[in-house]
Amino acid sequence: MLTLIPIPAFADNYLWLLHDSRRALVVDPGDATPVQQVLAELNLKLDTILVTHHHRDHTGGVDELRNTTGAKVYGPAAENIPKPFDPLDEKDVVNTLGLDFQVIEVPGHTSGHIAFYTPDVNGKPLLFCGDTLFSGGCGRLFEGTPAQMLASLDKLAALPGNTVACCTHEYTLSNLRFALAVDPDNQTLTTYQMYCEKLREQQQPTLPTSIAQELLINPFLRTRQPALVSSAQHFDAAAHDDVSVFAAIRQWKDQFK
Ligand SMILES: [Zn+2]
Repeated sequence: MLTLIPIPAFADNYLWLLHDSRRALVVDPGDATPVQQVLAELNLKLDTILVTHHHRDHTGGVDELRNTTGAKVYGPAAENIPKPFDPLDEKDVVNTLGLDFQVIEVPGHTSGHIAFYTPDVNGKPLLFCGDTLFSGGCGRLFEGTPAQMLASLDKLAALPGNTVACCTHEYTLSNLRFALAVDPDNQTLTTYQMYCEKLREQQQPTLPTSIAQELLINPFLRTRQPALVSSAQHFDAAAHDDVSVFAAIRQWKDQFK
């Protein structure tokens, strides 16, 4: 049996930790201190650090954790991660905690962003998707194009519906406000918003989410739905194909208040 823990860090990050009660892996440790606290409390040895992309809030604690635990670091070959690390490309596999994590390249938020997928953790697939997919949203396009991000999200959307998706920011409530603006007749979205508001009132994370859930409520996985196409065209009359509809929705979100 493996245990998955979201460790809160900074204003709204989660540093995901998975352990088998002896050994642990952590994903995107932007800060070493909260990870070290959990390792000490639960008496765990850190074996592995997985990094999805180069942003500081995902890598800031890598050196200290590597130096204090001897954990092995894996990250995207195409990005500047604190060295030394094992560079990964599409379809590479990381074996840790007795699991095989498959590397999926998901450029868009950054140009070399990767995700980690393993088909069976306690009976369900597990995905660490960094800043590519959020509940109700997706990462900003800092380095990639709308076409790249759409293709990346299509890859994640094609994973099994019961895949547990570990997103790295608690952005859900603000994402859902936007989602309702562009997908106003979506009843599932309204119900999900109420559910997430309740969780946040109780200081509970809204994550992880699942791919099936996101397909129902996430506007960035729903850009081919007629309601979303129509909303995109309201924002930008020239939005007529998959990529331009996606680009319009993403641009709208960037300026949504
Ligand atoms: Zn980022």
